[in-house]
Amino acid sequence: MNSPFLFLSVTLCQIKLLISVGIYFMMNSMKHLFLSIFISVAAITAMGQKPNPDFYEKVAKSESRAYVKSSLFNQHETYKSYDLIYQELNWEIDPSVKYISGKVTSYVKSLAEGLNETQFDLHNALQVDSIKKMDINLGFTHIDNTIGVQLEEPLPIGEIDTITIFYQGIPVETGFGSFVQSTHNNVPIIWTLSEPYGAMEWWPCKQSLSDKVDSIDVVVTCPELYRAASNGILVSEHVQDGKRTIHWKHRFPIATYLVAISVTNYVDYSDYVVLGNGDSIEILNYVYPEDLQEAQANTPNTIQFMELFNELFIEYPFASEKYGHAQFGWGGGMEHQTMSFMGSFNFELVAHELAHQWFGDYVTLGSWHDIWLNEGFATYLAGLAYENLLDAQYWMPWKEQVLERIVSQEGGSVFVQDTTNVSRIFSGRLSYRKGAYLLHMLRWKLGDETFFEAIRNYLNDPQIANSFASHEELVKHFEEAGGISLEEFFNDWYYGEGYPIYTLQFYQKENLEVIIMVNQQTSHNSVGFFEMPLPVRVWKQDGAQHMDFRLENSFDGQLFIVQPGFEISRLEFDPDLWLVSKTDTILFSPMLGNDDGLIIYPNPTTGRVKLVLPRGDEVNEVAIYDDNGSKILVNNTLSGSNLDLTGLQKGVYLINLKTNKGDYWDKIVLQ
Ligand SMILES: [Zn+2]
Repeated sequence: MNSPFLFLSVTLCQIKLLISVGIYFMMNSMKHLFLSIFISVAAITAMGQKPNPDFYEKVAKSESRAYVKSSLFNQHETYKSYDLIYQELNWEIDPSVKYISGKVTSYVKSLAEGLNETQFDLHNALQVDSIKKMDINLGFTHIDNTIGVQLEEPLPIGEIDTITIFYQGIPVETGFGSFVQSTHNNVPIIWTLSEPYGAMEWWPCKQSLSDKVDSIDVVVTCPELYRAASNGILVSEHVQDGKRTIHWKHRFPIATYLVAISVTNYVDYSDYVVLGNGDSIEILNYVYPEDLQEAQANTPNTIQFMELFNELFIEYPFASEKYGHAQFGWGGGMEHQTMSFMGSFNFELVAHELAHQWFGDYVTLGSWHDIWLNEGFATYLAGLAYENLLDAQYWMPWKEQVLERIVSQEGGSVFVQDTTNVSRIFSGRLSYRKGAYLLHMLRWKLGDETFFEAIRNYLNDPQIANSFASHEELVKHFEEAGGISLEEFFNDWYYGEGYPIYTLQFYQKENLEVIIMVNQQTSHNSVGFFEMPLPVRVWKQDGAQHMDFRLENSFDGQLFIVQPGFEISRLEFDPDLWLVSKTDTILFSPMLGNDDGLIIYPNPTTGRVKLVLPRGDEVNEVAIYDDNGSKILVNNTLSGSNLDLTGLQKGVYLINLKTNKGDYWDKIVLQ
């Protein structure tokens, strides 16, 4: 690295043996070098771009309300016996009437020998009129919100059968809105929001966190003056006899809860992301006519977000179709695949929902224990938007706000122990913010290159892409990319609760070496000690120059010696906010110095040294530290003023004398 600070004196090299000093420095301006991102010149609009401290409470609240529907969910045993490979979803809807009539054709592939029955989820509030294979009526039952369909004849493994379910009715009113009728500007709207298990309240589906439908067609018929937004590509839209029929097709695997429609008097317009090869990705916006102007002022932000995420991770997974927004009447947003439903076009919300297309849609969590795979990522990606856009003016405030909430309570893990506790799953503090900061700390620990490479590998993993992922699979990719075990890290930061509270003492010697002693308490007793690299910044007297160091902190009371090469005026801990922590005290501590009269000779030595202390000092304890900074030898008495180190390996050691008047520190070189 070509930096004016790049020097390591011989002295420091020696001390490197003695103390585990992680030297780390970078100029402020280098922070963003990892990005070679092309950011469109188009200015990001000023509306709603400032981070809002309550943002994640709002988002979490809407996402948790949806989750309550999970009480209706039971994953059927027979779901393992078939693979749902395709569904054609035909719905007739008039947004002024809360009613749905549907015809849903499913292609099921047998995974069991002689499959003779399949099951679907459909709420009992809806009436099944008939179930057919082509023109043949099939026998069925509809009890406990479950349809059981008797196949015409047993289906061998690997064979495909088609089943068409005709049904209608008023979707049940659970109060959590999977099929909601309301109005905007006195115009009726019907929109759906199924996360996580509400799909069965309005269509016959296979609600599962292990099988996505590989492909769907959505055909909505509604009164002529309305239009329907949905997943994938708009194939056709035609009007006949006062009715409009809209056909969307989506050719990517999709989780049941990400299938959605919204029907009202939409107007539409598109923004485009132009790719390096000249291709473009359409961002199709369906908005209320009365909000067109405001939407047009804000949705172009999506272009920059998508360029950023494409560059950092992998190209938008559904680029061959589209991304889009459909305005709806919910307070937050919902990341329906290729068409997020939006309550507003706030900067952070737009980034958050877009981020979910990679983390949530393309790769979906396989268990609610691991909700951070969706929400921690989406939250962090919105943070990355603040880091890389708007001249980074809101990046520090965003981090400050997020951290402030995380440490506002002493306990709490990112891991969700109790998945029946809805408010815990959708905890804005833990699943969203601490989950995001877990990623930020991994980035600090592993470095940008490894961190982003690991996530790209995770997204490209054929076992995960277009499917479901577990926490363990993500960890595996971080460990492989980093070539290290992260067991300790995740035990502390994922399963463990709380955060470290640091005390730093420092002293600068005449040779400009800075001695730093780090002590740590933890806020919660589930973690005894957080092993972390610690970012420390020292400032030159003139305040214009600084140098950063990275201290590999692995035990309480660890000593570090760093060499800034200039006289320092102050020391800052974690100035860029990489860590979830609190800083108790940063103390200038002359006791760490050794220019206080202690004489050791000979030094270097072959083993025996004589210690000469200022008059009046009485030694209470002598301690020797090895090259890890670990205390390896403690004497409570000194025989005369002699100290015998024979038997220790050659090298450099630190000696600490505690006397009735204070502490003395020095180094001893053993030859
Ligand atoms: Zn979210």
